[in-house]
Amino acid sequence: MNQVSKTCPCGSHNPYAQCCQPLHLGTAKATAAEALMRSRFSAFYLAAEGQTALCEYLVNSWHHSQYADKKQALHDLLKSCQQQQWHSLKIVNTEAGGKMDTTGTVQFVAFFTSSDNETVQQLHEKSHFIKENGLWFYRNGSFQADIKLQRNDTCWCGSGKKFKKCHG
Ligand SMILES: [Zn+2]
Ligand SMILES: [Zn+2]
Repeated sequence: MNQVSKTCPCGSHNPYAQCCQPLHLGTAKATAAEALMRSRFSAFYLAAEGQTALCEYLVNSWHHSQYADKKQALHDLLKSCQQQQWHSLKIVNTEAGGKMDTTGTVQFVAFFTSSDNETVQQLHEKSHFIKENGLWFYRNGSFQADIKLQRNDTCWCGSGKKFKKCHG
């Protein structure tokens, strides 16, 4: 299945070609912290499906103050991308991170399965973003407790259906 011509993995309901792909290709830049966050999720998602070149996008959009060595950071990302399968992204909350801001926070839940564990897991994180010279970067994040999906929430699997009508 070719995900590239389909709906963007970030959950925007837009085609990938008109959503996160221009950011991945470097033909557009994220105008908001949330857009960068979404594009990073899409990159993780697609890298795990074999588009490992997107790991470079992940390093390039990660603020350089947060890793000592770029090659090592890339190596670690490649490794972790091979161990996870991503399902969907749920944005919980966004603070600042707009056109006039230089910092922003995006709280999200990303649902994934690890290669060594069938159970669906959550990465619930408050991510901090910083803008430098007009470019947004992911800086760091703090983990939050797992959320409980409600019956009317969108299902974790990425089907777009309500949880109660899907895996609920
Ligand atoms: Zn997208
Ligand atoms: Zn489902």
